[in-house]
Amino acid sequence: MDESAGIRSGRRRRVLVTGGAGFVGSHLVERLLARGDSVFVVDDLSTGRRGNLPAAHDDIAFAEADLKDWLGADGASAGLFHEIYHLAAAVGVELVVADPVRTIETNTEQTSAVLHFAAGMHPAPRVLVASSSEVYGKSERTPFGEDDDVVYGPTTASRWSYACSKALDEFLALAHHEKSGLPVVVARLFNTVGPRQIGRYGMVLPRFVAAARAGEPLRVYGDGRQVRCFCDVRDVVRGLVDLVGTPACAGQIFNVGSDRPISIEDLARAVIDELGSPSAIVHVPYDEAYGPGFEDLRRREPDLSRIRGAIGFEPSFGLRETIRAVADALADVAGGAEAAS
Ligand code: UDP
Repeated sequence: MDESAGIRSGRRRRVLVTGGAGFVGSHLVERLLARGDSVFVVDDLSTGRRGNLPAAHDDIAFAEADLKDWLGADGASAGLFHEIYHLAAAVGVELVVADPVRTIETNTEQTSAVLHFAAGMHPAPRVLVASSSEVYGKSERTPFGEDDDVVYGPTTASRWSYACSKALDEFLALAHHEKSGLPVVVARLFNTVGPRQIGRYGMVLPRFVAAARAGEPLRVYGDGRQVRCFCDVRDVVRGLVDLVGTPACAGQIFNVGSDRPISIEDLARAVIDELGSPSAIVHVPYDEAYGPGFEDLRRREPDLSRIRGAIGFEPSFGLRETIRAVADALADVAGGAEAAS
């Protein structure tokens, strides 16, 4: 389905967002539309949903397509883009463990295709490649700095294929910058949370919120003392737009996220408390949650000095505020489903 006929012509910024119907992508699209851009979204809807985007909007052209196919066909005749945000990827640790072939191929082949597409455009668009804090692997350094060494497990543990595929994406992006001066910036996204994220692919916060709303137990994996920093998606997309809008950021890698740590046990408590839920917390062994041999990261915390220095990035939403927003969004979805039945 290609709705590009609906896009308005003019002199406004033309922006391509791959994976724009996904959780992060749809918030980014919202921000770009608010800025007055014409936004092209390509998404195969493997994990994204059309419903994440405004139903009818003169400034969005949406194509449900395999990204590589689209770039070679419709994309080639779509004209010049001022900015490209490449967010399309296989997401979620559980999905990655379940389907490593798809993860490896999707992440590396699509990124390679997008970078060639951008490099072939004159003048070149500004490009952002979304990477992941998974790239740090199981390094025990804390906090993670962009130039730190990375540490992966063996290639027989498929979990690390995700980290390696994202690392390869980063190598490719930096190589294009080196080779042709393509203005590409790499964003390493840390744990990102907020409305529209769904728990089906393993993400902890929407799962906890859904369980708390239903009065069901919150399933904390392992001892619950593993630590993460959760950043509201609305802060994250502001960071992405500012990175692309700052020419000096091209050719660099930036951590994007929050640097306020919380243990998963405390996260579960905060959700229960914020929503006034009667739910209990249960501990689930990792083997049961992910299958045998899964290695979870004890602590994941970004060093934000670089992004603070470059664009003055500072998360603005508090975790409680985000928990509330996630719960409200779930209530809206549930309300909508009831109204439709
Ligand atoms: N987790 C959990 N219960 C769940 C899903 C995840 O306790 O239902 C844990 C998971 O083991 C990890 C943390 O929550 O330690 C964050 O998981 P998520 O998949 O959201 O992000 P990541 O592991 O990529 O940081």
